Order: sequence, then C-alpha cells, then structure tokens
Amino acid sequence: MSVLIYTEFSEGKFKKVALELASYAKKVAESLGTTVTAVTVNAGDVSELGKYGVDKVLKVTDSKLDKFNAKAYADVVKQAAQKEGAKVVILSSTTDSLYLAPIVAVGLDAGYASNVVALPVSTSPFQVKRNAFSSKGFNVTELTSDVKVIALAKNSFGLAEASGAAATEDFAVTLNDADFNIHIQSQEKASGQVSIADAEIVVSGGRGLKGPENWGMIEELASVLGAATACSKPVSDLDWRPHSEHVGQTGKPVASNLYIAVGISGAIQHIAGINASKVKVVINTDPEAPFFKVADYGVVGDAFQVVPELIKKLKEFKANNN
Ligand SMILES: Cc1cc2nc3c(=O)[nH]c(=O)nc-3n(C[C@H](O)[C@H](O)[C@H](O)COP(=O)(O)OP(=O)(O)OC[C@H]3O[C@@H](n4cnc5c(N)ncnc54)[C@H](O)[C@@H]3O)c2cc1C
Repeated sequence: MSVLIYTEFSEGKFKKVALELASYAKKVAESLGTTVTAVTVNAGDVSELGKYGVDKVLKVTDSKLDKFNAKAYADVVKQAAQKEGAKVVILSSTTDSLYLAPIVAVGLDAGYASNVVALPVSTSPFQVKRNAFSSKGFNVTELTSDVKVIALAKNSFGLAEASGAAATEDFAVTLNDADFNIHIQSQEKASGQVSIADAEIVVSGGRGLKGPENWGMIEELASVLGAATACSKPVSDLDWRPHSEHVGQTGKPVASNLYIAVGISGAIQHIAGINASKVKVVINTDPEAPFFKVADYGVVGDAFQVVPELIKKLKEFKANNN
C-alpha cells in the first residue's frame, strides 16, 4: 500500500520536479506509515531517487514509450498503482504530468486535486491545501475516494535529502495499441539553456526593452545568475523572442524562487502565470506600473541603465565571494 509517484526523466537525468516529488512523497508516506514507490519510463540510472526518499523503483522500459504519450503513460502509472495497491498517487505539475494526472485519476476511479502546495492538512480525512484563483488564494480540498491522485505544484515543497537506497524492479506493462494512433513527426527542443520549468531564477523581459536587439543584457543577466530567460506575450507575438519563453496565463507558468521582470507592466494575464514565484522583482520606468503592487522589490528606473549596473555589481560580488 505504498505511495506511488511518477518521476520524469529527461536528457539523461531526473528532472528537479521528480526529486521534489520524491522528497514530498517521503513525508506523505511517513504520515501514512508506508513507503514510497516511484515508477520511471525509459530512465537510465535511477539510484538518485533513493537519496530523496524513494524505497522502491518500478522501471518500465519500452521503446514505444520513447516519446511522451499521455494515454499510454497514464496506463503505465495506473498499472504501477494497481500493482503496489497505492492509495495515494502523486504527480508533479509539469506540462506532461498535468495531461497525465486526470487520465490516471479516471483510470483508477480516484479523486483528483491539482495545484497542491503543502503536505496534507490531514490524512484522515484526506485534505490538501491548493493554490486557487491564479495563485492569489488557497483552498483546502478533501478527497473522499478510496484512491487519491494529487499533483504537487512546482517549487512548493523543495528538495529534502534522505538516507537510503531504492530497490529496483523491472516492471513490464501491457500497452494498448489504440493509444498509439498519433505519430509525432518531429520535436524541437531548446537545449543548452536552463529551462523555465526547472529554473530557480527567471529573468524576464517585456515590451519596455524596445526590440530584440536589446536582449543581450537580459541574456547576460540570466547567465550571471544561472537563470532561465522568459518574456511577456507581446514580445513573443512580435517574434522578438521564441514562443517557448512566453510566460503568463496563456504561456508557461513560472514558480521560481526569484522572478525578475524587466520592462514588463504587470498586466493581470502576466501576473497570473508568475504569481507562484517566491520573490518577485520589477525594473520599470513607470512607478504606477501594476507590477509594483505584486513585487517584493522594485526599482523605478530605466532598464538600460539599471540592468548593466546590476550585472556589474553581481559580477563584482561573485568575484569577491568565490
Ligand atoms: C486573453 C489574454 C491573454 C493574455 N495572456 C498573456 C500572457 O500569458 N502573458 C503576458 O505577458 N501577457 C498576456 N496578455 C497580454 C497582457 O494583457 C499585456 O498586454 C502584456 O502582458 C503586456 O506586456 P508588456 O508588459 O511586455 O508590455 P507593455 O504593457 O507595453 O509594458 C511595457 C512596460 O515597460 C515599461 N518600460 C518602458 N520603457 C522602459 C525602460 N526603458 N526601462 C524599464 N521599463 C520600461 C513601461 O513603463 C511599461 O510598464 C494576455 C492578454 C489577453 C487579452
């Protein structure tokens, strides 16, 4: 009756969210007096999971699962949950897992709570705290079904190392041919950069930067901070930056530790996607820009003066502290 998690593996390693999920599941399992089982799909070395509290890994290896397929992956998670008799199944809030979780819940006849931001308020009855209204509020949701599926919001729990090693078991699943009737012809992936999903820090630029030729300082600031770069919707609509960088209500959600907005006004649709970030900083010439109302720190100033100065100071700080 272990707690089951689905741990995403990409480009030769587990995603940070997978390790966060393991850390979280360990605590949930402890409060339920049980263990954590992780299911992996075409993962290589899985030993890292043991360091974050996973007791057992079910390794699924099948070339048909090389590319993400929500229905087939949901079937994998469902079969793993049934094998383990898991009453609590936990997924992350990546784009893939947000597709998966509801399908898993239907397959297991389970209640489903997304956007969970903390350890269960209570395990009997099973109640979880969730983000609501684009992270402007919280609610507590009670799941009364026998099996419960929850999705942990990104960067809401953090990593907690545990001592121990996970036992590994190869797990053969039965796949349904009907789930493979969509063929992906090609995939384009941004590589060599910090992804917005995994980033601890995000540096984001808006229309206040005037044009794509001015993004050098945003990239340099991101590079000094080890951050991902992002942008507002009009910036990607204007093709100043790729659509993969568009964040907000209609773009990617950001739940980083630090979000730096440069020349972004702070329209409600932008804030909706970045509100879950822990510390928000804005640099804007207009003191009336709405972003200042939600920011933790703000600089009223011209980005073309403030950002180069910030880069200079950060470089000095790093040089003096290395
Ligand atoms: C249905 C819908 C969905 C949407 N979804 C999204 C979304 O997901 N994400 C999103 O971002 N937007 C979204 N929008 C658009 C949103 O409403 C805003 O129009 C957009 O966020 C504004 O982008 P911006 O802040 O870059 O540009 P602007 O609103 O033009 O703001 C530019 C800012 O830069 C400042 N500035 C100018 N010069 C400088 C300088 N030299 N230094 C510093 N600051 C300077 C200005 O004072 C201003 O505040 C959506 C809109 C709709 C209707």
